Amino acid sequence: MMRDSRYDVLFEPVKIGPVTAPNRFYQVPHASGMTNALPRVRAAFREAKAEGGWGVICTGACSTDPSSDDAPLPMATMWDDNDIRAHALMTDAVHRHGSLAGVELWHGGAAVMNRASRLPPLSPSGIPWMSTHTGFMGNLRPKIMDKSDIRDVLKWQAQAARKARSAGFDIVYVYAGMGYLGYEFLLPEYNHRTDEYGGSIANRVRFVRELIEVTKDAVGQHCGVALRVSLEELRGRPGRNQPSEAHELIELLADCPDLFDVKMDSSPTDCSASRFSGEGSHEPVIDFVKTITKKPVVGVGRFTSPDTMVSQIRRGILDFIGGARPSIADPFLPAKVREGRMEEIRECIGCNICISSWHDGVPVRCTQNPTAGEEWRRGWHPERVPAAAVKEKVLIVGGGPAGLECALTLGRAGHDVTLADAGKTFGGRLTFEKTLPGLSAWNRVAEYRLGRLNEITNVSMYLESNLGVDEIIDLAPDRVVVATGARWTKMLYSTLEIPVGTLEHPSVFTPDDIAAGRMPQGPTLVFDFDNYYMGGVLTEHLASLGIGVSYVTPAGQASAWTIMTNELPLVHKALARRNVPVTTLHMVTAFDGEVATLTHLFNGEETAIACNSILIVGMRAPRGELYEALMSRLDELTAAGIRSVERIGDTLAPGAIAHAVHSGHKLARELGTADTGKPYRRDAPFVDAEPDVAPRVAAE
Ligand code: ADP
Ligand code: SF4
Repeated sequence: MMRDSRYDVLFEPVKIGPVTAPNRFYQVPHASGMTNALPRVRAAFREAKAEGGWGVICTGACSTDPSSDDAPLPMATMWDDNDIRAHALMTDAVHRHGSLAGVELWHGGAAVMNRASRLPPLSPSGIPWMSTHTGFMGNLRPKIMDKSDIRDVLKWQAQAARKARSAGFDIVYVYAGMGYLGYEFLLPEYNHRTDEYGGSIANRVRFVRELIEVTKDAVGQHCGVALRVSLEELRGRPGRNQPSEAHELIELLADCPDLFDVKMDSSPTDCSASRFSGEGSHEPVIDFVKTITKKPVVGVGRFTSPDTMVSQIRRGILDFIGGARPSIADPFLPAKVREGRMEEIRECIGCNICISSWHDGVPVRCTQNPTAGEEWRRGWHPERVPAAAVKEKVLIVGGGPAGLECALTLGRAGHDVTLADAGKTFGGRLTFEKTLPGLSAWNRVAEYRLGRLNEITNVSMYLESNLGVDEIIDLAPDRVVVATGARWTKMLYSTLEIPVGTLEHPSVFTPDDIAAGRMPQGPTLVFDFDNYYMGGVLTEHLASLGIGVSYVTPAGQASAWTIMTNELPLVHKALARRNVPVTTLHMVTAFDGEVATLTHLFNGEETAIACNSILIVGMRAPRGELYEALMSRLDELTAAGIRSVERIGDTLAPGAIAHAVHSGHKLARELGTADTGKPYRRDAPFVDAEPDVAPRVAAE
């Protein structure tokens, strides 16, 4: 297929100092959860994007010295020769496809806790970074940097830059954003210095300028030097000669780096979820940069629409279309635009499960792209599925995220697939969830798969087909895959975290009731111990329908797990906007239709709350009746030629949509192959060729 010429601009080469990017698709630095301990996993993850046409592929934050240590959060390092070898795998992989490799050298300053290195965190003036997330809290306050500390950080940056060049990187970063050291020098609240590094904006910028200068001296002849800088806070501060301090900063550094990578200041604003903000949300903060500097500018905004991308270039906002999440969800996004296959783009849904992976300290997971992080360890390519050695007739019962993904992947492998669902539309849980406040983009999970399923002929799809064992025996497929989902229960737990049975009353509801249109009457209490989005979003939904609603959770915050997806502050804002009272650290322990009894999680004190209905958003259980019925009639299935019955998605183990998609994909990749049940390949770090520690002998 030919691409539309209006997208040609996206495929122009652009110079970044001494190097040239082959096009404008730029995978900005983003956390992958793959440290130097997983060099092959990381190289293959990044390579998929280069193969898919991203012109520049960057690492995530890469520490220049052990005094910048985020452990146990995953981070890359550029400290020694083993680090060079680990990164070289990635740069070789990226170069194989003609793309440039960038490294985000980084010193975390007071925003890291140095838990593993046990060195004092460094900061301009000893002011600790504030944290509301226990995972980022620490007890060691930062050291005030003296002149020799400043010289050391500059030296580490230069050394790491030289190592980066040895590792094959084409672009080397200076990082001055998101609370890290360079950024702390920029803000007077963190920088109280009275020397030449503090005071006026020109002085506060000095440290960042010196970082750029030492990087240029070290590698500037061969590598592009990029500055990554957060502009949100500075944009809000009036400047002396310019509209804001952000303008002044760019003016002061206009000619210094070879590229500006501009972004927001905190993870929830920089990488906001689609539930609360749309594509291109950074523009009002970063739109001015190109009016001040002639150097190329890259920025992000969860860009998935080629038209929006072209508009950013044409309107002079950006030179490069930065992508982190869009590149995870679809490593082949640029190739699809290049080849005019726009409808095949697997658009990021903005759920931020990928970010939760970093907070969890594990390799990246993605709701839309089940192959993310699995390229090396399971050998999954994001676009290609190996043809099945033996083509089989597979019946999938249930067309939610798990069933749809399984059907598509089995179809791509060449199997003869039948997908049946009891509902009027495919999509399973998404059919309802897409209608909830802020969740419409999540339906891309279903839309993308349905679109691709329509393009292939070996998958037959049937709606309003509520299948039982008899129908399945009549159909007599070779294999059955049960993807019938899960249901919400009315189970409650004790303060010792032990299930205490279900709360039975005609006015107790679950999310399934709301999905089915059975609405609570009168003042309603939402009791949420699921802790992800559903409790918060249903509270918003009920409030938007004019139902008086209050929210109770045993957790410390509303939708507590959404701290992992950057949504938590915005969930609280949304509930406050709708005047929803939020009660934390309480369990619902009784309800009589008029009054709910709440018990404090820690001191056992009871409180009565008047309400007529309770919506429990708690435990989910598999909708497993069909599977159990099939298992009870195995002999008949065998007689009908059915060789296996498998479960996927929520009916196997209820989870987030990302889990269901991965589960459907995994089964499809493995069905009928020797890979079934095999563990994944395990990666290992590079270590010194000559061990400097003799192995202990038994006598020791
Ligand atoms: P998952 O997230 O695991 O994909 P969902 O709950 O989203 O699960 O989807 C399950 C789908 O299975 C729903 O669309 C539901 O209509 C369908 N389903 C459940 N039981 C049957 C059945 N016996 N026959 C056909 N479809 C079923
Ligand atoms: Fe986008 Fe969600 Fe995938 Fe992250 S996990 S890249 S937000 S679809």
